Amino acid sequence: MIESASSSSNFLRDLIETDLAAGRYDRVVTRFPPEPNGYLHIGHAKAICANFGLAAQFGGVCTLRMDDTNPTKEDIEYVESIQDDIRWLGFDWGEHFFHAADYFEQLYRYARELISKDLAYVCSQTNEEMRRDRGTVIEAGTASPDRDRPTAESLDLFARMRAGEFADGELTLRAKIDMAASNMKLRDPPMYRIRHATHHRTGDDWPIYPIYDFAHGLSDSVEGITHSFCTLEFQNNRALYDWYIENTSTLRPRPYQYEFARLVLSWTLTSKRKLLQLVTEDHVQGWDDPRMPTISGLRRRGVPPAAIRNFCDRIGVSKTNSIIEMEVFEEEIRAELNRTAPRRMVVRDPVRLVLVDWPEGTVDPLELANHPSADLGTRTVPLAGQVFVERSDFSDDPPKGWKRLSVGVEVRLRGAYLVTVNEVLRDEDGRILELHATHDHASRGGDAPDGRKVRGTIHWVPTEPSVTMNLRMVDRLFAVANPGEGDADFLDELNPASMPITEAVGEGALRDAAPGDAFQFERIGYFAVDADSTAEALVFNRAVSLRDTWAKASTAPTKGKSKARSAPVVAAATPSAEELAALAAWTEVGVSVETARMLKADAALDTLAWDAVLAGAEAKDAANLVGNELVRALDGRGTDALPFGGDAIASLASLSADGTLNQRGLRAVLAELVMSGGAPGEIVERLSLVQLSSDALTPVITAVLADHPEEAARLAGGETKLIGFLLGQVMRRTGGKADPKAARALLMQSVAGTRPSTAGKAGP
Ligand code: ATP
Ligand code: MG
Repeated sequence: MIESASSSSNFLRDLIETDLAAGRYDRVVTRFPPEPNGYLHIGHAKAICANFGLAAQFGGVCTLRMDDTNPTKEDIEYVESIQDDIRWLGFDWGEHFFHAADYFEQLYRYARELISKDLAYVCSQTNEEMRRDRGTVIEAGTASPDRDRPTAESLDLFARMRAGEFADGELTLRAKIDMAASNMKLRDPPMYRIRHATHHRTGDDWPIYPIYDFAHGLSDSVEGITHSFCTLEFQNNRALYDWYIENTSTLRPRPYQYEFARLVLSWTLTSKRKLLQLVTEDHVQGWDDPRMPTISGLRRRGVPPAAIRNFCDRIGVSKTNSIIEMEVFEEEIRAELNRTAPRRMVVRDPVRLVLVDWPEGTVDPLELANHPSADLGTRTVPLAGQVFVERSDFSDDPPKGWKRLSVGVEVRLRGAYLVTVNEVLRDEDGRILELHATHDHASRGGDAPDGRKVRGTIHWVPTEPSVTMNLRMVDRLFAVANPGEGDADFLDELNPASMPITEAVGEGALRDAAPGDAFQFERIGYFAVDADSTAEALVFNRAVSLRDTWAKASTAPTKGKSKARSAPVVAAATPSAEELAALAAWTEVGVSVETARMLKADAALDTLAWDAVLAGAEAKDAANLVGNELVRALDGRGTDALPFGGDAIASLASLSADGTLNQRGLRAVLAELVMSGGAPGEIVERLSLVQLSSDALTPVITAVLADHPEEAARLAGGETKLIGFLLGQVMRRTGGKADPKAARALLMQSVAGTRPSTAGKAGP
């Protein structure tokens, strides 16, 4: 199982750490609960990385639960695609694969328990009547005439609902909570509806189906979930989640629900309903169309799973909604492919270049490196005197500074020879048919023996062997940054040129590429072999361009940009000279451009940081504390009435510099400062946040290793993922006051001492 690099801010991680430190749970159990009514998309990837990633990081378990309580929209095709996609992303639920439908019997018993306790009743009101009687935010609701139905009668009716004696909608089981509750979710919400429908798993066994709010928390409880993460829309449902768990005889310790901001990515959509519409109305070629933001679409397009995981890690997890710019995702795709994709040469608009002085009948089997820095081996590109080059790489009338082909100009054929075009053959219309060139046979590999300078390098493909192929130039699916915003119909905003197809000719070695293999086609982009590609008809999808081509095109700012401070990844553009000048006051004293930007974006922060410098803090520390840590602690709150000043920041900086506080302690103090002001020194005392010295840490480490000999041995044997578990134990025993870095180092050092020596294993 893969652990995420966990470099960015993630309040869920902090929360688990706190719970483990406080001894609330022995181990972390999270779950990913998709409803099998569509394919997973990039938004789900965020939830998957959070749930599976955090469980792995803390040595726990993440279950995969099909949230299949709604029989009419669910399908086995979706169940299978969901499993494929999660595995492909690099996560594993082990034996913990479940269905909410597996709990129908148990949920039914919980429902009976609630009726018996007079906390639920069978109601004969229609949907319409229930809605009418619900009241409003400012007016209490009106009780159903059935609210006081005797328990025995409700039990009997509920049993008959289950037996199928009533028609759809005739009766409903409702929780009996509070018709005047300010949280409308608590106004006697429905628990079960009658629905004579066939379920993909339980068939016709059940004519009644549980409602999400009733089923979800109780299913969490059945699975022994400790942390139930969902998106912010469910904030109001939390009260109901708690109510069902508190009022039934469920397992302890109980799970709790926490909400995080859903991923919204510019230039695309993360609504299953809208994605389904794109598929059913044939706006795309299927759920895995390479333009789709689905996991299967991204896979088909050639996006590596690591790029998605790195992206999720980079954006972190917070409680503030914001829009993440598509560029950020594309940067991660590019970074991963740049690292891992072998290079190949492909020519899109070929023109034949003939080396007129090539030794007749000879073939030079040139060995070209597959990657400029990674160790990806070489491939043979045979050169027999004729190659294809890009038509656009030749100019009759070159502009100043032209470094490519032109008559009389020496140019390097990548990894091959230096060549000079001497003659241009054309048809009657003046269109170039062939370029005739001479070459320097001593420049094999691309460098002249006398060291003379040749500035231009172009890519090429031998005319033999070569392959023709179709390149799908996959681009953004929508032509606007926020499709469907306002009154717009997202279908009107599709990019009409989202996937133009170009013919191209490539190196012969490409014929053997298998579906999914990704390459950098030099100077063109990153491409992957499409699922439908065959040796006879090669099809490649562009996974991502070499550079961001939309940056200039998109002048209209996307909404949510103003939230840039709580999601620093949003501002990724390179600064202009003008901006650099404005940031100079900070950058000149060693502060990074990113941090300086955060400060300049808000005058109050800028002043606060300077005040801290005046109060004695190092400029870099002050800038970092205010521009990064404080912004994080504010989590979207305003800066106009902060209950502390620059002196507090300066004092915090010195507590951190002298080792009194670790990162965690520092964040705890900042959180306290933001809430109620005060003096950092005094807060550290009051909350006893002083970080343990290494000396004090050693006995704790020894004790943890002694209590977990098996884990210690596995770590010593190289299972590095166990460090998370052991570190968790250390943090827990020290009440979070260990310096995680020091603890990690000490742990590694201690187990290294116990590692069995290879000499001892050498045999009898
Ligand atoms: P629908 O759009 O049909 O309501 P959904 O997007 O919530 O469905 P589910 O299958 O219920 O889809 O989602 C499974 C899990 O993925 C849920 O826990 C949900 O919170 C999470 N999730 C869904 N969309 C996003 C998103 N854009 N960002 C982060 N998490 C998401
Ligand atoms: Mg949902």
